[in-house]
Amino acid sequence: KHSSPAQAEFYQAAEEVLECLRPLIERFPHYHDHSIIERIVEPERQILFRISWVDDAGRIHVNKGYRVQFNSSLGPYKGGLRFHPSVTSGTIKFLGFEQIFKNALTGLPIGGGKGGSDFDPKGKSDNEIMRFCQAFMTELHRHIGPTCDVPAGDIGVGSREIGYLFGQYKRLTGRYEGVLTGKGLNWGGSFGRKEATGYGAVYFAQNMLAARGDGLKGKTCLVSGAGNVAIYAIEKLYELDALPVTCSDSRGTVYDPKGIDLDLLKQLKEVRRTSLEDYLHDHPDAQYISVRDYPQDGHAVWRIAADVAFPCATQNELTEADARSLLSQGVYCISEGANMPSTKQAVDLFLEEKIAYGPGKAANAGGVATSQLEMAQNSGMEQWPIEKVDEKLQQIMANIHQQCATTAEEFGDPTNLVLGANIAGFKKVADAMIEQGVM
Ligand code: NDP
Repeated sequence: KHSSPAQAEFYQAAEEVLECLRPLIERFPHYHDHSIIERIVEPERQILFRISWVDDAGRIHVNKGYRVQFNSSLGPYKGGLRFHPSVTSGTIKFLGFEQIFKNALTGLPIGGGKGGSDFDPKGKSDNEIMRFCQAFMTELHRHIGPTCDVPAGDIGVGSREIGYLFGQYKRLTGRYEGVLTGKGLNWGGSFGRKEATGYGAVYFAQNMLAARGDGLKGKTCLVSGAGNVAIYAIEKLYELDALPVTCSDSRGTVYDPKGIDLDLLKQLKEVRRTSLEDYLHDHPDAQYISVRDYPQDGHAVWRIAADVAFPCATQNELTEADARSLLSQGVYCISEGANMPSTKQAVDLFLEEKIAYGPGKAANAGGVATSQLEMAQNSGMEQWPIEKVDEKLQQIMANIHQQCATTAEEFGDPTNLVLGANIAGFKKVADAMIEQGVM
């Protein structure tokens, strides 16, 4: 039922899941009898609200705010907030839908949700960011809570924004509780949360490669993005003796064959919040490719020779032409740090070629899993050491890989982790929905 072009991303995500479910439903027709498909594609609740805020010059601005509470069969709604001018209700709906299955795969008690705004944080002062976050939370606070809905970060929402959002929640409700994850380490945050999605995507690649008798050591890696996920994927790659040679942002790509300078990248993106173009001031021998010079049918970052690729920026950032280029340049393992970064045609190519391909809902689940560990620490009024969190993260990523691989094998296509992830995630949610009765 493709009736609204505004929901193209949601249809893309839903189609991928539904296409994978045919063999499951043929084998277990009771999912059909319980109308699980019809129920699971409809969010339990969608909240759309106005956010009015005042800039430094005293002008009033109005943005749209969203929270989609998609499915609560496995636990409280859990999923990030995205602040980016491209955000529409369709974007949030696609992200919320993916989140249901991702959260199920973690094996932890969390339901699926997502939220955000079309607010553009670029070029805003710190005070403007604070006022926007306060205005956003002024409405959101009445819809969330530590046992009902626990948002986190996503594109444009990092620890600074979580801090301002949390401060406003506390001010409005008078409660100091674990209502957001990704909090600061000295006020309720978990060690390892900031690193978790990037590290997790690398652990997932390690698992995929290990299943083929291979490893990451010495591998040349392509990473896209230059935000939270990309930075910590690069950090973990260095720890495992791999060589990440690229990163990218919305304005261009850096290719540094001797390896991305991680300290400089953190300085540019976490401290100075500036463009990657500035990377060349310190490394004039590296290459910077502006988006103006990208190939017409894709992105510069995927046109470079390597072994392993980590798309860590945004949805549909890897086209069919990019996929062909990756395969012809020798890439044989792809672990998605971002949500739905590869187009359908790109995914079809990876599956056809039977390379090691880890779809986002499996490969980037380390972030939300560690968010749930933060919730557990908050409810127990504890803070676990980094070693404990990292050990759990590694175990969770290994379990997710194992579940996807075993399920793929059970349904006759052993290397197809898309099939494995969708069936394994769906089954958990669907079984809980049936046991909880029609609603
Ligand atoms: P950040 O905002 O920290 O970084 C996003 C990066 O991607 C930035 O470098 C940004 O460029 C670039 N980018 C964003 N939008 C576009 C675009 N339309 N075109 C080109 N580049 C773009 O976000 P995260 O690192 O947190 O998120 C990255 C991806 O990972 C998203 O798909 C997100 O949903 C997913 N994810 C994140 C998790 C988390 O824990 N943070 C958990 C699971 C998935 P610029 O610097 O110019 O803005």
